[in-house]
Amino acid sequence: MTDNEFAALPPGVSAERFRAAIAKFRDAIGQEHVVVSSERVAPYAKIMIPEEEEKHMPAGALMPKTVEEVQKIVAVCNEYKVPVWPISTGRNFGYGSAAPAKRGSMVLDLRRMNRIIEVNEELGYALVEAGCTYQQLADYIEEHDLALWLDTPMPAPIASPTGNTLDRGVGYTPYGEHFLFQCGMEVVLANGKVLRTGMGALENSNTWQVFKWGYGPYLDGIFTQSNYGIVTKMGFWLMPRPPVYKPFLVKYPNQDDIVTAIDTIRPLRMNQVIANAGTVSNALWEIAVGTRRFELWEEEGQIPDEIVTAYAKEKGYGAWNVYAALYGTEEQVAVNWKMVKGAFESSGGTLMTENDMDPDDPLWQYRKDMMSGTLSMQEFGMYNWRGGGGSTWFAPVSQARGSETLKQMQLAKEITKKYGIDYVALFIIGWRDMHHIVDLLYDRTDPRQMRAAHDCYGELLKRFAKQGYGVYRANTAFMDEVAELYGPVKHEVNLALKRALDPNGIIAPGKSGIDI
Ligand SMILES: Cc1cc2nc3c(=O)[nH]c(=O)nc-3n(C[C@H](O)[C@H](O)[C@H](O)COP(=O)(O)OP(=O)(O)OC[C@H]3O[C@@H](n4cnc5c(N)ncnc54)[C@H](O)[C@@H]3O)c2cc1C
Repeated sequence: MTDNEFAALPPGVSAERFRAAIAKFRDAIGQEHVVVSSERVAPYAKIMIPEEEEKHMPAGALMPKTVEEVQKIVAVCNEYKVPVWPISTGRNFGYGSAAPAKRGSMVLDLRRMNRIIEVNEELGYALVEAGCTYQQLADYIEEHDLALWLDTPMPAPIASPTGNTLDRGVGYTPYGEHFLFQCGMEVVLANGKVLRTGMGALENSNTWQVFKWGYGPYLDGIFTQSNYGIVTKMGFWLMPRPPVYKPFLVKYPNQDDIVTAIDTIRPLRMNQVIANAGTVSNALWEIAVGTRRFELWEEEGQIPDEIVTAYAKEKGYGAWNVYAALYGTEEQVAVNWKMVKGAFESSGGTLMTENDMDPDDPLWQYRKDMMSGTLSMQEFGMYNWRGGGGSTWFAPVSQARGSETLKQMQLAKEITKKYGIDYVALFIIGWRDMHHIVDLLYDRTDPRQMRAAHDCYGELLKRFAKQGYGVYRANTAFMDEVAELYGPVKHEVNLALKRALDPNGIIAPGKSGIDI
């Protein structure tokens, strides 16, 4: 194999050394599971974020099947200083997909490690290998007729609970904050040792998936959004299927009604009347999921509010649309419904339930699915809005207070407008926060739009930080900038942990801005 047959070389590693490492990887996991030809590496480099693929080009991919094979891989990585970028299913769309933060890492693709180890109906938990998808679990639950619900992110059919949870992703049932409901991990450390967190450290333990904390410092958190280990198994809780599920929609007519909407939701959510991570989406989100931009507006520049408002009115969308649900017995739901109805109706919103909806309405159907953990890919329609495969999520955290969400909305609208990007946004209802999710949609084939999306994200980050707002998750193009915003002391601690756990820096250099 000649030098230019490699898609990229690991930083500081000569082609000759890399060849020697490849030979060792092949001995460890088998020839066919070591990918280095540019042609086979290319799919791992495909990204939606506004940067050139070249910057994130992997040197190859490794596809182990067992924990022992992962251990052998890290031994070779240490010997040859070849870094790996672990993915569970690699569908981190809009945050970097499967590609590494730094050019020249090898993708450690765990998709072959996809066993469901246990699903326990009585205690409501699952233990899976990293590459296991939500779809596999959904099929398993259906096949065994288990009275359990999954909680899934939107790309669930092709994504994994492990990858999503490790990036601290979210879903939409009462178990929506995934890391809260994670319980027990198995991690291969950079030195090849295998750590079982929490109660998993005890031999013959049967409490690994039922008690999160174990004894001593709680470690699971340091393996999320980090590069301190390779998670090979993860436990998490599954919600018992409730006897009654009552989804609803509340529409508000004006953009400033975000204040009323959020202030109405907050006490209901904090008191667990509304127990789930519902969403509050703007009109443009509703429109973009099922419409192409040119049908409304063909000019450059942010689509004007009047156009959006007129189209939303025609289609019956609110300026803001609250999707949430009630869960429980008939009696519980009846009592909670009284409170929900009273609160939203007196807030000026239009409240709708299943009976008011067209059963074929795809927007209603997909929210109904996602708030009950049913898999759907409907939201991918959003990528036809502009076309050209560009998307990057700007995801700042807001207090769950109307005045704060209004301030964030206004700031995000102003900045996106400057770059000619539409404000396609929703708020995900947290326990005391709102995840403000803005999808910067653009055409990757148009260099001007690429630059605009890139600079827009950069300005959003900085201007939000000036107001004290930070993102909950970041894409691989901006990890260093985001880490810097979280300050030098946090960064020092992150680096100290990295040096202690991975002195050769072989695991995911650059993840969350951590690189030695
Ligand atoms: C239309 C659309 C809707 C979306 N909706 C949602 C949503 O509702 N909620 C949401 O959270 N996201 C959403 N996303 C973003 C993203 O696609 C999902 O979060 C997806 O679940 C992440 O991909 P994955 O599960 O394959 O994780 P991966 O890509 O496998 O992992 C994510 C990251 O975690 C780390 N990692 C993964 N596995 C390991 C491991 N075993 N050991 C160590 N580190 C690891 C790596 O840094 C990796 O890059 C959406 C994206 C799109 C395009």
